[in-house]
Amino acid sequence: MKIMVAVKRVIDYAVKIRVKADKSGVETQNVKMSMNPFCEIALEEALRIKEAGLASEVVAVTMGPKQSIDTLRTGLAMGADRGIHVEATGDLFPLAVAKLFKALVEIEKPGLIILGKQAIDNDCNQTGQMVAGLLGWPQGTFASKVVLDKEKQEVMVDREVDGGLETLCLNLPAVITTDLRLNQPRYATLPNIMKAKSKPVKKYTPEELNVATNSDLEVVEVTEPPKRKAGVLVSSVDELIDKLKNEAHVI
Ligand code: AMP
Repeated sequence: MKIMVAVKRVIDYAVKIRVKADKSGVETQNVKMSMNPFCEIALEEALRIKEAGLASEVVAVTMGPKQSIDTLRTGLAMGADRGIHVEATGDLFPLAVAKLFKALVEIEKPGLIILGKQAIDNDCNQTGQMVAGLLGWPQGTFASKVVLDKEKQEVMVDREVDGGLETLCLNLPAVITTDLRLNQPRYATLPNIMKAKSKPVKKYTPEELNVATNSDLEVVEVTEPPKRKAGVLVSSVDELIDKLKNEAHVI
């Protein structure tokens, strides 16, 4: 069984985001870019499944500009067997990404697709659900535990939901999206970074996959959050209680 893993190139989580002067988006020039943290978790899970002898191949997939190849190489250095880069410029909204995934699934025929639960640049949390919807496959979102049964061709997924833990049993092929506590992703070692350079990467364009990436969504404006007002130092607990009683606003 082949596992397809989504790896998105995003602004590194530690970078302080700057909004462009024309408010059309955030500044990405000369900014450190990395693999979306939830995608690292997705890839780690796929690698563990393969290492347990339950999958034959892990294919890392990215969609985005030329530079997304760097994210793919990171994925290959972590251990993915090969990569697919759908080179596309401009904004790629979740529905377009999901349509591209569907087109690749028709070519690659994976038994499992693992994505991050959300991309930290847009916080959409939509792509995995849309991929499952377009393919008509079962989905286990926000996975905190994944147990695959090769014989039964099913996968058990624990999900952290408001009331506690929910366990789903999905028939394969299926779509999983990863939550933060699923695993601790590995670092790429230097020898593996070197090896990754010779691993195969297949390139496509959206046109080659017959997918239109235009969207019904338009980003109208991006603005910074309002600056926080300075806090007040109180001199005693009594003063604090008085302020909480008389000045605190219910949100
Ligand atoms: P989102 O719905 O945009 O929050 O993204 C959810 C997940 O879909 C991400 O964590 C990625 O695993 C995957 N994904 C979204 N966009 C891309 C992309 N351009 N390339 C690869 N994977 C993506």
